[in-house]
Order: sequence, then structure tokens, then C-alpha cells
Amino acid sequence: MQLIETIAGLREVLAEARRQGLKVGLVPTMGYLHEGHASLITRAKEECDVVVVSVFVNPLQFGPHEDLDRYPRDLERDAQLATKSGAAILFHPSAQEMYPSQVLTTVSVQQVTDRLCGASRPGHFDGVATVVLKLLNIVLPDRVYFGLKDYQQVRVISRMVSDLNVPVQIVPCPTIREPDGLAKSSRNVYLTAQDRQAALVLSNSLRELQKLVSAGERNAALLQSRLTEWISSEPLARIDYVEILDSEKLEPVSCETAEIVAAVAVYFGQTRLIDNAVIDAEGRPFYAADSNEIKNSSRQGNRS
Ligand code: AMP
Repeated sequence: MQLIETIAGLREVLAEARRQGLKVGLVPTMGYLHEGHASLITRAKEECDVVVVSVFVNPLQFGPHEDLDRYPRDLERDAQLATKSGAAILFHPSAQEMYPSQVLTTVSVQQVTDRLCGASRPGHFDGVATVVLKLLNIVLPDRVYFGLKDYQQVRVISRMVSDLNVPVQIVPCPTIREPDGLAKSSRNVYLTAQDRQAALVLSNSLRELQKLVSAGERNAALLQSRLTEWISSEPLARIDYVEILDSEKLEPVSCETAEIVAAVAVYFGQTRLIDNAVIDAEGRPFYAADSNEIKNSSRQGNRS
């Protein structure tokens, strides 16, 4: 596998690959790779001839009080895991290489960024969309791979690619979890043993929510309050957001909603973890209800 640190160097290698008619896949990451990233690389290798993994901790997507400086890094380990998973190129540019002068142009995707992490982390998705468009313009991949663990990111990038006619196919990939259910994340290393245990409340609660829907519940407000209750029952959990939204629009459930996303962001100590579950209506649509209806239905037990 080749480690490439400059845009010009990467373009040269990829131009040759394209001349040979090879299909290029891109897996953008911030490094400190784990099995979640590996699953994207493996999938890319199955579908493309040349797989480029980018490792770049993008300053543009971090807020002033976020974890940019302490974000975990281990390039040697990343190179091993990327090679093992089938990557041909590890692109690791410096911040100076990616942003040689003040950034005067950014990409801003509206509406799908109004809620969830878009609301909690102002400017975050402008940073994400901008760096992803830069990477797409640098690599010119046929396909680009993203994890559904970052559900809103997939929606934002899909919208950007469609609105701006970017010639690339987006491949969303399922969330990879630890055996006990915790979604794999580079940030899991921040967790103390106690917080690590407490964090299981996320995947457990999302699983319970799925059961509630399977049992017939379609009231979005009730689903949201149940999910909030379950997560709040963990004393070490501090909720940033718990939301049930239309999975496509990332807006509150309407009569057109055939599929919801239950998305959560929760602090354990200083560490903010996100997780989600996408749940379809199985032919019986979801609906929004006011709080009185929820109270009534709570009293009666779960509506079905
Ligand atoms: P990150 O390095 O956290 O920016 O993630 C890079 C890519 O890997 C993104 O598309 C993430 O959604 C994806 N990813 C991160 N964690 C997981 C996971 N547990 N399962 C699947 N994909 C993941």
C-alpha cells in the first residue's frame, strides 16, 4: 500500500489508474481506524479496483470547544488495518496541504442540517460537506463509502451530491458494533470502564424501540418519550438529543413518513456518542401525536 501526503502525488497515481480503466473507490475517515472503517474498506475493495482511504482530522468540522486537539491518532496502525482490508492508497494530507490559505468557499446544505448534530454542532456539516467535496474533487472516485452510524452525514452528503451534480455513487454501509451492541467509534477510547458499561444504554434502548414498533406502536411522540425515558434511566448518561424523525427528510414525522430514524447523541463524562436506528413502518404509517394523546396512551399502556 502507498502512503501519499500530497494532492499532486495522489492525482498523478490516480490519473494512471484511470488511464488503465480501473474503478476507484474512496473511503473518507478521520483515522484511528477500527472494524467499522474496515467494513467500508472491504466493501469498497469488493466493488472497486483501487481503494483510497483518506485519513484527515478536518479542523473545519470541529467547533472551538470540541476534541480536535485530543482526537486519537495512530497512522501506523491505520496503515496496517487499511492494507489488511484491501486499500491500495492511504491519503494522509496535512491541514496545510488541504487548506493552504484562508478558506473563503464552503458548502452549506440546508434543511437536513436543521436538527440533530446540525443543531448541536453549529457549522459542523459545513465543514464536513466542504472537506468531502474537496476529497471528491481530488480523488474523482467512482464510488464513495460512508457508514450509517453517522446517519445525518449520509443524508447531507447525498443531498450535496445530488444538488451539485457530483458524478459519484454514494454507498451507505451498515453500523458495525461491539459484541455487546455498542457502536464502534474512534471516540470509544475516551470512555472510562464505567462509562463504557453505561454507554450500552444507547444500543439497548434503540433495540427496545425497534421491538415497540414491531409490536405495532406508530406514535412518533410516544416513541420519542419512551426512548428518552430509557436513556435517562442511566445515571451516567447526559442527553444532548433524542429524536424520532422522518428518515429521508430529517424532519418531524408526517403522514408521508414510511420510515423513521431514531437518532441519539449522549454524553458519558466528556465523551459524546451518537447512535441511531432506521425503522420502517411495515405498511402501517407513523404519525405525530400531541402530548395529551401520549399521556392517554401511556395510561392505557402501549397503543398498537
Ligand atoms: P470517522 O473516522 O469517524 O469520520 O468515520 C469515517 C467513516 O467511517 C464514516 O463514513 C463513518 O460513518 C464510518 N464509520 C464510523 N464508525 C462506524 C461503524 N461503527 N460502523 C460503520 N461505519 C462506521
